[in-house]
Parts: sequence; structure tokens; C-alpha cells
Amino acid sequence: MNEKIEKIISEIKSNKNFIITTHVNPDGDAIGSELALARYLTSIGKNVKIINHSPTPDYLMFMLNSNEEIIEFNDGLHSDNINDTNIIFTLDLSQLSRTKSLEGFIRKSSATKICIDHHPFPEEYSQFNLIDTLSSSTGELIYHLIKQTGADITFDIALPLYVAIMTDTGSFKYERTTADLHRIIAELLDAGVVPVKVHQEIYDQGSASRIQLLGRAFNSLVVDGDGKLAYMKISLRDLKETNSKEEDVEGFVSYTLSIKGVEVGLFFFELENGFKISLRSATTVPVNKLAAEFNGGGHFFAAGARLENKIMEDAIPKVIEKTTEYLQRYLK
Ligand code: 5GP
Ligand code: MN
Repeated sequence: MNEKIEKIISEIKSNKNFIITTHVNPDGDAIGSELALARYLTSIGKNVKIINHSPTPDYLMFMLNSNEEIIEFNDGLHSDNINDTNIIFTLDLSQLSRTKSLEGFIRKSSATKICIDHHPFPEEYSQFNLIDTLSSSTGELIYHLIKQTGADITFDIALPLYVAIMTDTGSFKYERTTADLHRIIAELLDAGVVPVKVHQEIYDQGSASRIQLLGRAFNSLVVDGDGKLAYMKISLRDLKETNSKEEDVEGFVSYTLSIKGVEVGLFFFELENGFKISLRSATTVPVNKLAAEFNGGGHFFAAGARLENKIMEDAIPKVIEKTTEYLQRYLK
């Protein structure tokens, strides 16, 4: 029995109303974890609302049973919900600021806050938490929570858990992919998940414009730092001219590490009010520390930062300079 999980289960048992939320620009782990937890709570008779800052990306919509299963936050409509609920679950985030427009309302709410996450350096805002940086995904932690209640992992719960774990392990290839994790996956398949179908839903339903956008990213590729640093970028203009959407850049950064010898890969993505950096490390450079230099964060090998009200082209040389410093400091 895990004691932290035991405490969370006891909070679940003794309360009725729950809100679940996650980070801005949610990924498969964020949405999958929310759906699995919400469906478990609903199955035991609780009132549950999933309320997010961002809309759900199209490629994850196939998991939803209805369009109302996840609500996009509107302060006029939902701030009372956040105030009046008993429990707020924040999933897959270590800093409350990543809930964006919900942040202030969550901080003010007298609800009990429970954080379930696998990112290092968590902010302490929750009364209860299940934080395990060794976990492949938040989905894996939700799996352990539901198992410890003794509940069955039904198909409705298994599907989003599979999506959460699959997407956060790069389809079962990153370092947290263990034999135990595969045993969990086996159980999800026993519950009816069909990997080929899920893979097609997530990776094979993209638009042609996304591939055109990827072409622009490839064209922008720069390899620097004696071949140890690679970066690509996408501007707002690229996005408009190819008719693409923000979520289309998901996964672009990983191509930077596919180049032999590259230790740190960066992807710059221009936003309406600034830009975003995705950072990836191949072996020894802690990119979460590098991201923290720009007020971001994340995992050792995968991190990100959002720089608001900054001009991307002006900032890129500074980011490259810092990255070069990190390469010198951390490469053996
Ligand atoms: P991605 O590059 O795929 O958007 O993000 C990679 C990882 O970096 C995420 O799983 C998340 O942990 C972290 N991350 C991304 N953006 C931010 C950010 O703006 N702030 C913080 N603290 N972490 C981020
Ligand atoms: Mn995650």
C-alpha cells in the first residue's frame, strides 16, 4: 500500500464534488489522465467536472465520450465551480501557473488541492500529492491510484490511460519504459485497448498542412556548437501560410535529436504574444535547468519554456548562447 495514495483515496471517499484540471496546451498524458480519473470518480457516484484552460487538441478528441466531457474554462461561467467544489485535482503540472486563466481562481478556492504529477521541482500548493519523478507519466500514477482503490480497469478507463502512457513514453521507448510498465500495458490491452487503432488515431490523422509546416521547420534547421546543438523554428507567418494550427507542431522538436552527434535539440515556436521553446537532451545536459533560465521547466531530457512579450528572432541568439554554455558545462 502506498501511503500517499491511501490519503488521496480517503479524500475521494469523504467528498462529493471534484474538479480536475491540467496544463495549458495539454498533451496525451494530460488529457488521458484527466479522463481516466474522471471516469473512475463518476463510476463511484461522484460529481466531476474536467475544466481546462486550453481546448482539447483534435488528435485527442477520439477518446471523449461526448464534447461536454471536457469543459474549456470561462471565468464568467466556471469560477463559482472552482470556488465551491470540495476537491481540485491538478494533473501533470508542477507549477500552478501552467493552468493559466484558472490559476488565480484555484489559489483563492478553499477546496482541497491534490496534485498528481511526475515533473521534478514541484511548487508546493497542494494539501495532498502523488508526485513521482520516476514515473513514466501521470497516467501511470493514475493507474496505481485506481488499482489501489480495488476498482476494475474498464475499457473506458484503460483507453485514456494507454494514450497517456504511450504518448509520454514516445511509444514505449524513453528511459522510464520498464518491464513493470509493460505489465501495466498488458492489463490495458486485456481491457480491450487495440494498440494499432490508438496509434492510427494519434499519429495518422494529421493534415497535409502539418507536413508542409514540418517542411518549413526542416528548412529552418541550424546545426551549431560543433554539431552538438540543432534547432529549428516556426513563425506565425509559417503557421498562417500553411494553414496550420498550433497543435500541429507537436513532436517537431524530436527530429533535432535524430541527427548523429546532436546532444541538445531546440524548437522555437512563435506565438501571438511571444514564443515557446521546446528543449530536448540526448544524454547528459539537463534541459529542465536550461529551460529554468527562461522561467520554464520540465524533465531532465524534455523541457519547455514560454517567453511572453518577447520577440523570437531577438531572443534566439541569447538562448543559443546559454545552450552552448550548458553544453560546455555538462558534456563529459
Ligand atoms: P514540450 O516541448 O513537449 O511542449 O514540453 C516538454 C516538457 O516540458 C513538458 O512535458 C513539460 O514538462 C515541460 N514544459 C513545457 N513547457 C513548459 C513551460 O512553459 N513551463 C514549464 N515549467 N514546463 C514546461
Ligand atoms: Mn506527463
